Amino acid sequence: MTEVLVLAEHTADGEVKKVTLELLTAARRLGEPSVVWTGPGADAAQPRLAEYGAAKVYVADSADFAGYVVAPAAELLASLVASASPAAVLIAGTTEGKEIAGRLAVKTGSGVLTDAVDVTAADGAPVGEHANFGGAVVVHATVRTGTPIIAVRPNSVAAEPSPAAAAVEAVAFTASDAAKTAKITEHVVAEASERPELSEASIVVSGGRGTGSADGFGIIEQLADSLGAAVGASRAVVDAGWYPHAFQVGQTGKTVSPQLYVAVGISGAIQHRAGMQTSKTIVAVNKDAEAPIFEIADFGVVGDLFTVVPQLIEEIGKRKQI
Ligand SMILES: Cc1cc2nc3c(=O)[nH]c(=O)nc-3n(C[C@H](O)[C@H](O)[C@H](O)COP(=O)(O)OP(=O)(O)OC[C@H]3O[C@@H](n4cnc5c(N)ncnc54)[C@H](O)[C@@H]3O)c2cc1C
Repeated sequence: MTEVLVLAEHTADGEVKKVTLELLTAARRLGEPSVVWTGPGADAAQPRLAEYGAAKVYVADSADFAGYVVAPAAELLASLVASASPAAVLIAGTTEGKEIAGRLAVKTGSGVLTDAVDVTAADGAPVGEHANFGGAVVVHATVRTGTPIIAVRPNSVAAEPSPAAAAVEAVAFTASDAAKTAKITEHVVAEASERPELSEASIVVSGGRGTGSADGFGIIEQLADSLGAAVGASRAVVDAGWYPHAFQVGQTGKTVSPQLYVAVGISGAIQHRAGMQTSKTIVAVNKDAEAPIFEIADFGVVGDLFTVVPQLIEEIGKRKQI
Protein backbone atom coordinates (compact mmCIF):
# COMPACT_ATOMS: atom_id res chain seq x y z
CA MET A 1 0.00 0.00 0.00
CA THR A 2 1.28 3.51 -0.75
CA GLU A 3 2.71 5.51 2.11
CA VAL A 4 1.09 8.68 3.40
CA LEU A 5 3.43 10.97 5.30
CA VAL A 6 2.08 12.56 8.49
CA LEU A 7 4.15 15.31 10.09
CA ALA A 8 3.87 14.84 13.87
CA GLU A 9 3.15 17.77 16.17
CA HIS A 10 4.62 17.00 19.56
CA THR A 11 6.44 18.30 22.60
CA ALA A 12 10.17 17.74 23.12
CA ASP A 13 9.51 15.00 25.68
CA GLY A 14 7.43 12.96 23.26
CA GLU A 15 3.88 14.00 24.08
CA VAL A 16 1.92 13.58 20.85
CA LYS A 17 -0.50 16.42 20.10
CA LYS A 18 -4.09 15.35 19.49
CA VAL A 19 -4.00 16.75 15.95
CA THR A 20 -1.35 14.17 15.03
CA LEU A 21 -3.76 11.38 15.94
CA GLU A 22 -6.43 13.09 13.83
CA LEU A 23 -4.02 13.23 10.88
CA LEU A 24 -3.19 9.54 11.31
CA THR A 25 -6.89 8.70 11.19
CA ALA A 26 -7.36 10.72 7.99
CA ALA A 27 -4.16 9.28 6.46
CA ARG A 28 -5.47 5.71 6.80
CA ARG A 29 -8.16 6.56 4.25
CA LEU A 30 -5.46 7.33 1.68
CA GLY A 31 -2.84 4.64 2.30
CA GLU A 32 -0.42 3.46 4.95
CA PRO A 33 0.49 6.22 7.42
CA SER A 34 4.17 6.94 8.05
CA VAL A 35 4.81 9.48 10.77
CA VAL A 36 7.61 12.00 10.27
CA TRP A 37 9.06 12.84 13.68
CA THR A 38 11.31 15.87 14.05
CA GLY A 39 13.68 16.20 17.01
CA PRO A 40 13.71 14.18 20.26
CA GLY A 41 10.95 12.24 22.02
CA ALA A 42 10.08 9.58 19.45
CA ASP A 43 10.78 6.65 21.81
CA ALA A 44 8.21 7.87 24.32
CA ALA A 45 5.68 8.51 21.56
CA GLN A 46 6.06 5.24 19.66
CA PRO A 47 3.29 3.28 21.51
CA ARG A 48 0.79 6.13 21.00
CA LEU A 49 1.64 6.40 17.29
CA ALA A 50 1.26 2.62 16.96
CA GLU A 51 -2.13 2.75 18.67
CA TYR A 52 -3.39 5.24 16.10
CA GLY A 53 -2.23 3.40 13.00
CA ALA A 54 1.32 4.49 12.17
CA ALA A 55 2.90 1.72 10.11
CA LYS A 56 6.26 3.45 10.16
CA VAL A 57 7.89 6.33 12.05
CA TYR A 58 10.70 8.24 10.34
CA VAL A 59 12.73 9.75 13.16
CA ALA A 60 15.04 12.67 12.38
CA ASP A 61 16.46 13.41 15.82
CA SER A 62 18.32 16.62 14.95
CA ALA A 63 18.67 19.76 17.06
CA ASP A 64 18.11 21.85 13.91
CA PHE A 65 14.32 21.58 14.25
CA ALA A 66 14.28 23.32 17.61
CA GLY A 67 16.86 25.87 16.54
CA TYR A 68 15.59 27.17 13.20
CA VAL A 69 11.83 27.80 12.91
CA VAL A 70 10.01 25.84 10.16
CA ALA A 71 12.42 25.61 7.21
CA PRO A 72 14.24 22.44 8.37
CA ALA A 73 10.94 20.52 8.67
CA ALA A 74 10.02 21.45 5.09
CA GLU A 75 13.46 20.35 3.94
CA LEU A 76 13.17 16.98 5.72
CA LEU A 77 9.72 16.36 4.26
CA ALA A 78 10.93 17.25 0.76
CA SER A 79 13.69 14.64 0.99
CA LEU A 80 11.20 12.01 2.24
CA VAL A 81 8.77 12.87 -0.55
CA ALA A 82 11.61 12.22 -3.01
CA SER A 83 12.61 8.90 -1.44
CA ALA A 84 9.22 7.46 -0.40
CA SER A 85 6.97 8.83 -3.21
CA PRO A 86 3.98 9.05 -0.83
CA ALA A 87 0.37 9.29 -1.96
CA ALA A 88 0.04 12.49 0.10
CA VAL A 89 1.59 14.49 2.92
CA LEU A 90 -0.70 15.50 5.80
CA ILE A 91 0.29 18.39 8.05
CA ALA A 92 -1.58 20.05 10.91
CA GLY A 93 -3.31 23.23 9.75
CA THR A 94 -1.68 25.28 12.49
CA THR A 95 0.17 28.53 11.75
CA GLU A 96 3.48 26.68 11.61
CA GLY A 97 2.02 23.69 9.78
CA LYS A 98 0.57 25.85 7.03
CA GLU A 99 3.92 27.53 6.51
CA ILE A 100 5.65 24.15 6.28
CA ALA A 101 2.99 23.00 3.78
CA GLY A 102 3.58 26.05 1.59
CA ARG A 103 7.35 25.66 1.67
CA LEU A 104 7.09 21.94 0.92
CA ALA A 105 4.81 22.63 -2.04
CA VAL A 106 7.38 25.00 -3.52
CA LYS A 107 10.26 22.60 -2.90
CA THR A 108 8.48 19.64 -4.51
CA GLY A 109 6.58 21.52 -7.23
CA SER A 110 3.32 20.20 -5.80
CA GLY A 111 -0.17 21.50 -5.20
CA VAL A 112 -1.16 22.33 -1.63
CA LEU A 113 -4.57 22.39 0.06
CA THR A 114 -4.81 24.32 3.32
CA ASP A 115 -7.50 24.48 5.98
CA ALA A 116 -9.06 21.16 4.99
CA VAL A 117 -11.77 20.09 7.45
CA ASP A 118 -11.84 16.53 6.13
CA VAL A 119 -9.86 14.28 3.83
CA THR A 120 -11.26 11.43 1.75
CA ALA A 121 -10.21 9.48 -1.33
CA ALA A 122 -12.01 9.49 -4.68
CA ASP A 123 -10.78 7.41 -7.62
CA GLY A 124 -7.58 6.83 -5.69
CA ALA A 125 -6.83 10.54 -5.28
CA PRO A 126 -6.94 12.47 -1.99
CA VAL A 127 -9.77 14.97 -1.74
CA GLY A 128 -9.71 17.85 0.73
CA GLU A 129 -12.96 19.22 2.07
CA HIS A 130 -12.94 22.94 2.82
CA ALA A 131 -15.54 24.99 4.67
CA ASN A 132 -15.39 28.45 3.10
CA PHE A 133 -17.12 31.71 4.01
CA GLY A 134 -17.50 30.59 7.59
CA GLY A 135 -18.89 27.21 6.58
CA ALA A 136 -21.57 28.58 4.23
CA VAL A 137 -19.88 27.01 1.19
CA VAL A 138 -18.28 23.55 1.22
CA VAL A 139 -15.64 22.91 -1.44
CA HIS A 140 -14.01 19.61 -2.41
CA ALA A 141 -10.56 20.00 -3.92
CA THR A 142 -7.90 17.72 -5.38
CA VAL A 143 -4.27 18.35 -6.21
CA ARG A 144 -3.42 17.88 -9.87
CA THR A 145 0.33 18.43 -9.80
CA GLY A 146 2.98 16.62 -7.80
CA THR A 147 2.37 15.09 -4.37
CA PRO A 148 -0.83 16.29 -2.67
CA ILE A 149 0.11 18.30 0.42
CA ILE A 150 -2.82 18.83 2.73
CA ALA A 151 -2.94 20.98 5.86
CA VAL A 152 -5.85 19.75 7.97
CA ARG A 153 -7.49 21.96 10.59
CA PRO A 154 -7.10 20.66 14.14
CA ASN A 155 -10.30 19.23 15.65
CA SER A 156 -11.87 18.52 12.27
CA VAL A 157 -11.39 14.75 12.09
CA ALA A 158 -12.29 12.50 15.03
CA ALA A 159 -9.17 10.52 16.03
CA GLU A 160 -9.80 6.76 16.06
CA PRO A 161 -7.33 4.07 17.18
CA SER A 162 -6.29 1.33 14.75
CA PRO A 163 -3.21 -0.55 15.96
CA ALA A 164 -0.20 -0.84 13.65
CA ALA A 165 3.51 -1.56 13.96
CA ALA A 166 4.97 1.99 14.11
CA ALA A 167 8.34 0.57 13.02
CA VAL A 168 10.99 3.17 13.72
CA GLU A 169 13.37 4.14 10.91
CA ALA A 170 16.13 6.60 11.80
CA VAL A 171 16.74 9.33 9.23
CA ALA A 172 20.02 11.28 9.18
CA PHE A 173 19.26 14.98 8.80
CA THR A 174 21.22 18.21 8.89
CA ALA A 175 19.51 21.38 7.76
CA SER A 176 21.10 23.24 4.86
CA ASP A 177 22.48 26.76 5.35
CA ALA A 178 19.46 28.10 3.46
CA ALA A 179 17.14 26.57 6.07
CA LYS A 180 19.10 28.20 8.89
CA THR A 181 18.57 31.85 7.99
CA ALA A 182 15.88 32.40 10.68
CA LYS A 183 17.19 31.30 14.04
CA ILE A 184 15.18 30.84 17.27
CA THR A 185 16.92 32.92 19.92
CA GLU A 186 14.56 32.48 22.86
CA HIS A 187 11.63 30.35 24.01
CA VAL A 188 9.09 31.99 26.32
CA VAL A 189 6.87 29.50 28.10
CA ALA A 190 3.24 30.61 28.16
CA GLU A 191 1.83 31.16 31.61
CA ALA A 192 0.36 27.86 32.72
CA SER A 193 -3.36 27.82 33.39
CA GLU A 194 -5.28 25.42 35.58
CA ARG A 195 -7.86 25.17 32.82
CA PRO A 196 -7.63 22.75 29.90
CA GLU A 197 -6.07 23.94 26.64
CA LEU A 198 -8.75 25.56 24.47
CA SER A 199 -8.14 23.60 21.25
CA GLU A 200 -8.04 20.26 23.04
CA ALA A 201 -10.70 20.72 25.77
CA SER A 202 -13.74 18.45 25.85
CA ILE A 203 -15.87 21.28 27.27
CA VAL A 204 -15.57 24.94 26.20
CA VAL A 205 -17.52 27.82 27.73
CA SER A 206 -17.34 30.94 25.56
CA GLY A 207 -18.54 34.44 26.33
CA GLY A 208 -19.54 37.25 24.00
CA ARG A 209 -20.30 40.95 24.03
CA GLY A 210 -23.41 40.15 26.08
CA THR A 211 -21.18 39.90 29.14
CA GLY A 212 -20.89 43.69 28.92
CA SER A 213 -17.36 44.28 30.29
CA ALA A 214 -14.12 42.63 31.37
CA ASP A 215 -15.60 42.30 34.87
CA GLY A 216 -18.81 40.87 33.47
CA PHE A 217 -16.76 38.30 31.56
CA GLY A 218 -15.70 36.87 34.93
CA ILE A 219 -18.97 34.97 35.02
CA ILE A 220 -17.76 32.95 31.99
CA GLU A 221 -14.66 31.90 33.91
CA GLN A 222 -16.81 30.89 36.89
CA LEU A 223 -19.08 28.75 34.72
CA ALA A 224 -16.06 27.22 32.96
CA ASP A 225 -14.44 26.34 36.30
CA SER A 226 -17.62 24.74 37.59
CA LEU A 227 -17.57 22.44 34.54
CA GLY A 228 -13.79 21.92 34.36
CA ALA A 229 -13.93 23.62 30.96
CA ALA A 230 -11.69 25.83 28.85
CA VAL A 231 -12.68 29.48 28.37
CA GLY A 232 -13.31 30.90 24.89
CA ALA A 233 -14.33 34.34 23.70
CA SER A 234 -15.93 35.96 20.69
CA ARG A 235 -13.96 38.49 18.68
CA ALA A 236 -16.12 41.31 20.03
CA VAL A 237 -14.82 40.48 23.51
CA VAL A 238 -11.22 40.29 22.33
CA ASP A 239 -11.46 43.52 20.30
CA ALA A 240 -12.87 45.27 23.36
CA GLY A 241 -9.82 44.13 25.34
CA TRP A 242 -11.91 42.13 27.84
CA TYR A 243 -10.02 38.87 27.20
CA PRO A 244 -6.78 37.92 25.38
CA HIS A 245 -6.76 37.03 21.68
CA ALA A 246 -5.35 33.56 22.42
CA PHE A 247 -8.86 32.62 23.58
CA GLN A 248 -10.76 33.86 20.52
CA VAL A 249 -12.89 31.21 18.83
CA GLY A 250 -13.75 31.57 15.17
CA GLN A 251 -12.53 32.20 11.68
CA THR A 252 -9.65 34.42 12.82
CA GLY A 253 -9.21 32.63 16.15
CA LYS A 254 -9.05 29.02 17.31
CA THR A 255 -11.12 26.17 15.91
CA VAL A 256 -12.63 24.00 18.61
CA SER A 257 -14.70 20.84 18.43
CA PRO A 258 -15.46 19.83 22.03
CA GLN A 259 -18.11 17.42 23.29
CA LEU A 260 -19.91 20.42 24.80
CA TYR A 261 -19.75 24.07 23.70
CA VAL A 262 -21.60 26.63 25.81
CA ALA A 263 -22.06 30.00 24.07
CA VAL A 264 -23.06 32.74 26.48
CA GLY A 265 -24.06 36.20 25.24
CA ILE A 266 -22.77 35.38 21.76
CA SER A 267 -24.94 36.21 18.73
CA GLY A 268 -23.53 33.40 16.56
CA ALA A 269 -22.09 35.39 13.65
CA ILE A 270 -20.92 33.23 10.78
CA GLN A 271 -17.26 33.98 11.59
CA HIS A 272 -17.75 32.74 15.15
CA ARG A 273 -19.62 29.65 14.01
CA ALA A 274 -16.73 28.78 11.67
CA GLY A 275 -14.66 28.00 14.75
CA MET A 276 -17.14 25.96 16.79
CA GLN A 277 -19.95 24.57 14.68
CA THR A 278 -18.54 21.02 14.67
CA SER A 279 -18.92 20.84 18.49
CA LYS A 280 -20.89 17.74 19.45
CA THR A 281 -23.45 19.47 21.68
CA ILE A 282 -24.04 23.22 21.59
CA VAL A 283 -25.80 25.09 24.39
CA ALA A 284 -26.63 28.79 23.98
CA VAL A 285 -27.70 31.41 26.49
CA ASN A 286 -28.91 34.63 24.88
CA LYS A 287 -31.59 37.18 25.75
CA ASP A 288 -32.58 37.53 22.07
CA ALA A 289 -34.70 34.58 20.91
CA GLU A 290 -33.86 35.51 17.30
CA ALA A 291 -30.06 35.31 17.80
CA PRO A 292 -28.50 33.14 15.01
CA ILE A 293 -26.68 30.99 17.57
CA PHE A 294 -30.01 29.28 18.30
CA GLU A 295 -30.06 27.97 14.69
CA ILE A 296 -27.21 25.60 15.53
CA ALA A 297 -27.83 25.11 19.27
CA ASP A 298 -28.97 21.72 20.60
CA PHE A 299 -30.23 23.40 23.78
CA GLY A 300 -31.05 27.07 24.13
CA VAL A 301 -32.00 29.30 27.04
CA VAL A 302 -33.58 32.66 26.19
CA GLY A 303 -32.77 34.93 29.09
CA ASP A 304 -30.40 37.38 30.70
CA LEU A 305 -27.08 35.63 31.22
CA PHE A 306 -26.55 37.35 34.55
CA THR A 307 -29.73 35.63 35.77
CA VAL A 308 -29.31 32.30 34.01
CA VAL A 309 -25.61 31.58 34.52
CA PRO A 310 -25.49 31.95 38.35
CA GLN A 311 -28.41 29.50 38.57
CA LEU A 312 -26.57 27.16 36.24
CA ILE A 313 -23.41 27.33 38.36
CA GLU A 314 -25.44 26.68 41.50
CA GLU A 315 -27.17 23.69 39.93
CA ILE A 316 -23.88 22.22 38.66
CA GLY A 317 -22.47 22.66 42.19
CA LYS A 318 -25.40 20.75 43.70
CA ARG A 319 -25.00 17.88 41.23
CA LYS A 320 -21.28 17.61 41.99
CA GLN A 321 -22.18 16.98 45.64
CA ILE A 322 -24.47 14.08 44.82
C1 LIG B 1 -13.07 38.86 8.62
C2 LIG B 1 -13.77 38.69 9.92
C3 LIG B 1 -13.32 37.73 10.80
C4 LIG B 1 -13.96 37.53 12.02
N1 LIG B 1 -13.51 36.55 12.86
C5 LIG B 1 -14.18 36.31 14.00
C6 LIG B 1 -13.79 35.25 14.89
O1 LIG B 1 -12.79 34.57 14.67
N2 LIG B 1 -14.53 35.03 15.99
C7 LIG B 1 -15.63 35.78 16.30
O2 LIG B 1 -16.25 35.52 17.34
N3 LIG B 1 -16.01 36.79 15.50
C8 LIG B 1 -15.31 37.08 14.38
N4 LIG B 1 -15.70 38.13 13.59
C9 LIG B 1 -16.70 39.06 14.13
C10 LIG B 1 -18.12 38.57 13.96
O3 LIG B 1 -18.63 38.98 12.70
C11 LIG B 1 -19.02 39.18 15.07
O4 LIG B 1 -18.92 40.58 15.01
C12 LIG B 1 -18.65 38.72 16.47
O5 LIG B 1 -18.60 37.31 16.52
C13 LIG B 1 -19.74 39.20 17.44
O6 LIG B 1 -19.40 38.84 18.73
P1 LIG B 1 -20.54 38.63 19.82
O7 LIG B 1 -21.47 37.57 19.38
O8 LIG B 1 -19.88 38.50 21.13
O9 LIG B 1 -21.24 40.08 19.82
P2 LIG B 1 -22.66 40.53 19.29
O10 LIG B 1 -22.84 40.15 17.87
O11 LIG B 1 -22.79 41.96 19.64
O12 LIG B 1 -23.68 39.67 20.14
C14 LIG B 1 -23.88 39.81 21.50
C15 LIG B 1 -25.03 38.91 21.86
O13 LIG B 1 -25.21 38.94 23.25
C16 LIG B 1 -26.61 38.96 23.54
N5 LIG B 1 -26.75 39.59 24.84
C17 LIG B 1 -26.53 40.88 25.16
N6 LIG B 1 -26.71 41.07 26.49
C18 LIG B 1 -27.09 39.86 27.01
C19 LIG B 1 -27.41 39.41 28.31
N7 LIG B 1 -27.37 40.22 29.37
N8 LIG B 1 -27.75 38.11 28.44
C20 LIG B 1 -27.79 37.26 27.39
N9 LIG B 1 -27.48 37.64 26.14
C21 LIG B 1 -27.11 38.92 25.95
C22 LIG B 1 -27.22 39.74 22.39
O14 LIG B 1 -28.59 39.39 22.24
C23 LIG B 1 -26.35 39.33 21.22
O15 LIG B 1 -26.91 38.21 20.54
C24 LIG B 1 -15.06 38.33 12.38
C25 LIG B 1 -15.52 39.31 11.48
C26 LIG B 1 -14.87 39.48 10.28
C27 LIG B 1 -15.39 40.52 9.32
